[in-house]
Amino acid sequence: MQVELSAAEGRALLTRLLGGKLPDAHGRFGPFGGCYAPEALMPALARLEAGVKQYLHDPKFVAELGKELEQWAGRPTPLTPARGLSKRWGAEVYLKREDLAHTGAHKINNALGQAMLAKRLGAERVIAETGAGQHGVATAAACARVGIPCIVYMGAIDIVRQAPNVDRMAQLGAEVVPVESGNRTLRAAIDEAFRDWVGDPEGSYYLLGSAVGPHPYPYLVRELQRVIGKEARRQITEVTGGLPDAVVACVGGGSNAIGLFHPFLGDEKVRLIGVEAGGRGPGLGDHSATLTNGTPGVLHGCYSMLLHDADGQVQETHSISAGLDYPGVGPEHALLDAIGRVSYTTATDDEALDALQECCVAEGLLPALESAHALAGARRWAQKNPGTRVLIGLSGRGDKDMPTLTKVIGRDPYAGNPHSEAPAR
Ligand SMILES: *Cc1c(COP(=O)(O)O)cnc(C)c1O
Repeated sequence: MQVELSAAEGRALLTRLLGGKLPDAHGRFGPFGGCYAPEALMPALARLEAGVKQYLHDPKFVAELGKELEQWAGRPTPLTPARGLSKRWGAEVYLKREDLAHTGAHKINNALGQAMLAKRLGAERVIAETGAGQHGVATAAACARVGIPCIVYMGAIDIVRQAPNVDRMAQLGAEVVPVESGNRTLRAAIDEAFRDWVGDPEGSYYLLGSAVGPHPYPYLVRELQRVIGKEARRQITEVTGGLPDAVVACVGGGSNAIGLFHPFLGDEKVRLIGVEAGGRGPGLGDHSATLTNGTPGVLHGCYSMLLHDADGQVQETHSISAGLDYPGVGPEHALLDAIGRVSYTTATDDEALDALQECCVAEGLLPALESAHALAGARRWAQKNPGTRVLIGLSGRGDKDMPTLTKVIGRDPYAGNPHSEAPAR
């Protein structure tokens, strides 16, 4: 079942979105979004909403955040003309380099902004949850910078799988709490973090890592990640004198994509393409392509598209990239899909790996496996639309993925890279 919107309804919703009228007063993006949290959390969410209204666009807060983003987090990140990929794909390719932001991905934009907001709101501690550990590391770093204690919930299985990130969080002063309940991965960690918040809604700030969850998080995270698209739009206009034909980003919860897309939503001629994790294929449990294969429902406090079975049980998901391995997606993406403003597609594990290897030799850049999905989607688009200008969100760097790459590609150093032009051995 899909949410049906007429063309006229779609146009009206896009106009409201562009006019800054969405989310509405109930936190809804058209049919999606809202606030489906336990009763005990409603006062905390209401306080957060009031805090967001008071501070997020307050000139003093904006100036302070801007300065921290510049002096501490390394913004603005560069826009790189991808000469090698352009030649190979027959297109004009540009990369927005979030891999060069502090802690190696776009996640720091959100973590820093929310940590500063938590401080303003008088919180005594920050709670977060993490799957692969990237959001945990960004949050630990931001909390250390801001000077607020940080507790990160992490599934016991993920703690073993992502040991280097656990150590990074610990060195940054965070307390990492192993979660032994449920599936002992991200979903259980989210449940546990919510439980902690219910126990201390006054003193704690819950720092959510993507454009998902109950209102006001999808809005808050989008506003904090919009810096990616604002910079990229200015940079590509300066460099090329015009706008791109297509803008491509990977979609897990959807924060880097919504941040990159948002400033282009009003540019009718710019095609926006979100790439989900196609995993091993379209079978149940083999992917995390929520918009491509999902149905509407409520997950983690929000009505959006999600992967569940007929009984409403959330499906297990799979992706080679931990950051895309989530059964839900942000409500604003669900709306943009329903009204057709953004096209959502998938890249499989193999396509992402191949795009990663091509980027390595063509550009001298090792992208994150998540970002490699955007590269794979962009490559497909460029090859169908030769000569066009394509902007790709390179959401993070791939150093964290080396253990996975070594396992999948193999340890043989002479296996090399199939995209390399070096003579075969
Ligand atoms: C976490 C992560 C993602 C996925 O999260 P979104 O909220 O969808 O952006 C993508 N890329 C990288 C590098 C990540 O670390």
